Amino acid sequence: MGQISKWECKKCGYSVNMSGGHDRGFIAVTNTFQCTNCKKLMDISVGKYDEDGYHEDERNYYCKTCNNKLEVWDVRKKPCPHCGKPMIKQGCLILWD
Ligand SMILES: [Zn+2]
Ligand SMILES: [Zn+2]
Repeated sequence: MGQISKWECKKCGYSVNMSGGHDRGFIAVTNTFQCTNCKKLMDISVGKYDEDGYHEDERNYYCKTCNNKLEVWDVRKKPCPHCGKPMIKQGCLILWD
């Protein structure tokens, strides 16, 4: 079951609603990416499950706003795209699947 949470940086106040790393719904799989140009985090669908199992899309992802190549977010350090301090999960908002 996929889960969107509110994440917040206590240092600069940046907040975003996202899964925060690999997440899996009934069919779709998402991962969290960051645009270093827009300084934004976003969940992107990276693959799906079907009868044959899991298929991950082997490709690069680009920012919809600026077309910059996106980087996979570091889920270990959880850096804020603005100030680099760790983002803190505030709680579950939506179960998306
Ligand atoms: Zn910050
Ligand atoms: Zn961008």
